[in-house]
Amino acid sequence: MRPVTHFLSNESWSGSSTRTSDIYNPATGAVSGQVTLASKEDVDQVIATAAAALPSWAATPPAKRATVMFEFRDLLKKHIDELAELLSAEHGKTLPDAKGEIARGIEVVEFACGIPQVLKGEYSEAVSSGVDSFSVRQPVGVVAGITPFNFPAMVPLWMYPVAIACGNTFVLKPSERDPSVVMRVAELFAEAGLPKGVFNVVNGDKEAVDALLDNPRVDAVSFVGSTAIGQYIYSRGTSNGKRVQALCGAKNHLVVMPDADMNQVTDALIGSAYGSAGERCMAISVAVPVGEETADRLVKALEPRIRALKVAPYTDPESELGPVISKASYDRIHDYIDQGLEKGASLVVDGRNISLQGYEDGYFVGGCLFDNVTTDMSIYTDEIFGPVLSVVRAQSYEEAVDMINTHEYGNGTAIYTQDGDAARDFWARAQIGMVGINVPIPVPVAYHSFGGWKRSLFGDHHIHGMEGVRFYTRLKTMTMRWPSGIRTGAEFHFTGGKDA
Ligand code: NAD
Repeated sequence: MRPVTHFLSNESWSGSSTRTSDIYNPATGAVSGQVTLASKEDVDQVIATAAAALPSWAATPPAKRATVMFEFRDLLKKHIDELAELLSAEHGKTLPDAKGEIARGIEVVEFACGIPQVLKGEYSEAVSSGVDSFSVRQPVGVVAGITPFNFPAMVPLWMYPVAIACGNTFVLKPSERDPSVVMRVAELFAEAGLPKGVFNVVNGDKEAVDALLDNPRVDAVSFVGSTAIGQYIYSRGTSNGKRVQALCGAKNHLVVMPDADMNQVTDALIGSAYGSAGERCMAISVAVPVGEETADRLVKALEPRIRALKVAPYTDPESELGPVISKASYDRIHDYIDQGLEKGASLVVDGRNISLQGYEDGYFVGGCLFDNVTTDMSIYTDEIFGPVLSVVRAQSYEEAVDMINTHEYGNGTAIYTQDGDAARDFWARAQIGMVGINVPIPVPVAYHSFGGWKRSLFGDHHIHGMEGVRFYTRLKTMTMRWPSGIRTGAEFHFTGGKDA
C-alpha cells in the first residue's frame, strides 16, 4: 500500500500528524494507499518554509527563474507515461485522458518559460517636465493552491508554474483522493533546479485548508473545486485579507441549431459528455436542440453511440469510459438518476447496473441519456459530475439563450451551427466565461485565461495566461524626477576608485 506524505524543501516530509485517509483504486474499490492529513502545526511549518524561501526567489532575475521552467518542462515530457500511470491508478480515467491533461498542464509551464517577456512593465517618458513614470509587477508573496480530484495534474499546473515564475513561493494542497501524481511532479520540479522551499506540497483535508486560509503569511489563494467549498474559501480567505480566486462548479449547455451537422454534434457530445466519465468542469451535461425535429434527430443519433461506449478500467487500452472517483460519487449519480425518473424525464440510455468481470466492486457508471428534461428538475439545475447527459428541448433559439443565461452557473457553453449570424449573436450574449462555436469544450490555451462567470467563479481573475500573471503579482508604479544638474550646469565627479 502506497504511503503519501508531504513535500517540503525538495524532499518528502512526514510532518507530525498521524491522521490519514484511504486512497482507493476506483476500478476495484480496493484501498491502494494512505495519505497523511496535515495538522495546523504541520501546515504552519510548511508556510514558514515557503515564506523563508521568498526573498531570495523573488530577487532571482526572471530569466533565471525561466531556466528552471525550461528544465521542468523537459522533465515532465520525459516522464509523461509514468505520471499518467500514477494519475489513472488513483483517478480511474483512461491513459489517453491522463496524458492529455498532463500535456495541457505542460503548456502552462511553456507559458511560464516566457515570463521575462510578460513581466516587462511599462514606461512613460515625460509625464510632466523632467518627470518619467514606470510600472512593474512584483510577486504577491506566499501563494496557496487548493485543488480538486478531477484533474490532479493539470489543475495544479494551471497555478504554480505561473505563480513561481512570477517570483512567488507556493504551497499546494491537492485533493486527498488522488495526491500521488503531484508528489512525483514535485520531485521533478526539484530535479529541474528549483531552490528549496519554493514549491511545497501539503496533503490534508479541511484542517489543512483552514490553516492555509488563516495563516497571515499566506498572501494569495487559488482554489479550484465545487461551488459550496469555493464560496467558503473565498469568504474566509478574503475576510483574512488575502487575494482569492475560486474557480467552481458548472452546468454546461450545448445548443444544437437546426442547421448543425448532426455527425459533428454527436461526436462532440460523446466526447464532451462522457469523456473522463463526465468528471470535468467543462463537460457538456445539457444538450439543447432547437425545435422538435432537431431534438428527435439528435436523440436518435446519440442513443446507439452511447450504448456502444466501452466501459472498462484504464488498464484496458480500449476503455472509453472509466469508473467515477468514489463510492459516494457513484451513489450520488444514482440518486440523481432516480430523481430524474421520479420527475418524469425519459431515460433513453440507462448506464446503471454495469458489472464488469473482476471489477464487480468498482465504481463504474455507463453513459446515461435523459430526454424531455425540464429546467425545474434537479438533473438540470445541479452539477451531477458523472456520465449523464440531459436533453432539454427548446422551441426557439431565444429560449435556448435565455435558459443558459438564467442558469446559476456560467463556466462554459457551445453552439453548433453553420450560421455565422447565430454564432456571433450567441457568443456576444452568452452570460458565460468560455464559449465554443462548433467546439464542444472551449478550454482556453495556456496563453489565454480560463474561468467562468456567475457562481462558477468567485474573485476577479481567471487563471493562467495574463490573468494568472495579474493575480500572482502586484502592480507598482514609480514617478521620478531627477534634479537636472546637466541642465543647470552643475558639475559631476565620477572619479572611480573608492568614491565611485
Ligand atoms: P471539492 O470542492 O470537494 O474539493 C476541492 C478541494 O477542496 C480539495 O482539495 C478538498 O480537499 C478541499 N475541501 C473539500 N471539502 C472541504 C471543506 N469542507 N473545507 C475546506 N476544504 C475542503 O471538489 P472535488 O469534488 O474535488 O472536485 C470537483 C468539483 O470541482 C466540481 O464541482 C467541478 O466542477 C469543480 N472544478 C471546477 C473547475 C473550474 O475551473 N471551474 C475545474 C475543475 C473542477
